[in-house]
Amino acid sequence: MGEKFNISNLNLYYGDFHALKDVDLSINEKEITAFIGPSGCGKSTTLRMIAGLENVTAGNLWMRDQVVNDVPCGERGVSMVFQNYALFPHMSVKNNIIYGLKAHKMDENEIDARLKEVLKMLELEGLEDRKPKELSGGQRQRVALARAVVKRADYFLLDEPLSNLDAQLRMRARKELVKIHEMYHPTLVYVTHDQIEAMTVGDRIALMYRGKMEMLDTPSHVYNRPASVFCAKFIGSPSMNIVEAEYHNGALVIGKQKVELPGIWQRIAAQCPSGLLYAGVRPEHVMMSRTPQERSIEGVVRYVEDYGNRYGVYIQVEGDKNELIAIREGEIPQPGEKVYIHVETEKLHLFDRGTEKSLGYPEMVIRAQEKLAVPKLEKAIAQ
Ligand code: ATP
Repeated sequence: MGEKFNISNLNLYYGDFHALKDVDLSINEKEITAFIGPSGCGKSTTLRMIAGLENVTAGNLWMRDQVVNDVPCGERGVSMVFQNYALFPHMSVKNNIIYGLKAHKMDENEIDARLKEVLKMLELEGLEDRKPKELSGGQRQRVALARAVVKRADYFLLDEPLSNLDAQLRMRARKELVKIHEMYHPTLVYVTHDQIEAMTVGDRIALMYRGKMEMLDTPSHVYNRPASVFCAKFIGSPSMNIVEAEYHNGALVIGKQKVELPGIWQRIAAQCPSGLLYAGVRPEHVMMSRTPQERSIEGVVRYVEDYGNRYGVYIQVEGDKNELIAIREGEIPQPGEKVYIHVETEKLHLFDRGTEKSLGYPEMVIRAQEKLAVPKLEKAIAQ
């Protein structure tokens, strides 16, 4: 790792429109960071700013330990694949791919070797002499990718590079991308709409929402430890169940029902000054039984979806507002049946209803406790 590649307090306006709002982002060199978020949230704009194609309105962009806000695009050592390919229409596939290398007066043998390698890697052999208009959308996209790969730049910026490929080709291209990364270790910033692609390709996920960075973390943390209601609902399908709850005297109150919280979760819930919360649980973590269990709440099955290998069971809890979905296998209750649902404590999520931010997780409380405990211990030993 080592060198600094980060974005601090970055803002960008298009006229009056505030497209990027105080975006902070620390990208680890040589890692793959996958940007994901709803359409229009600012993913491409951030990428274009890193590339030097948009002017920073406020804030700093650091690359290789230097602020590069005013460094022109061509001098940033980046290679970018655009969503719309941006191929030269009058040039053959071959010339599109090697154009940049020729412009840099690279040795002909080296150009040939790189060209051969990339044509094979991206399954473009035999298409070298065609013009872009003689290619399918997927083939054009691969030419754009090939043109970026041959440059072997330190920074590789990809804006939805696989969106036009069919499912099979997409999976193959995804593997090839990971292979390219293993070979050259570029710092790769990857924009996608596809959650699975982001989770499988990204060492870390940058989740954006309305021009802001909502969360930057590993795929596992983004899934299991979402920072906000938005993150919790955006990642995962079906998305996380979120119900309104209140915290009173050690218990979570959902409508007229009450669930005693374990001690560590009481401390987490107590951090919400209003006591008004959202409780979250992923569909695959909703446990159901026909008899009451410890810390269970009652509900009624409304309908069941058959997914072939599993079922989606919709359960109404305390009125229309709170409907949960449970994903289960095997024998399941039928519509109209009363069920008791419970959640293993480590699978629970609590959010402040006002800020919609996570109130934290047990391991964070334990870590904070340990941090407090060590100085106390040192003091005790010193005395
Ligand atoms: P998508 O997933 O649909 O590609 P995105 O997250 O990449 O979306 P951006 O292209 O970064 O979104 O756009 C962010 C916001 O900025 C959008 O609301 C968009 O309409 C706006 N925007 C982008 N380019 C311009 C521009 N040149 N002028 C004005 N507004 C723009």
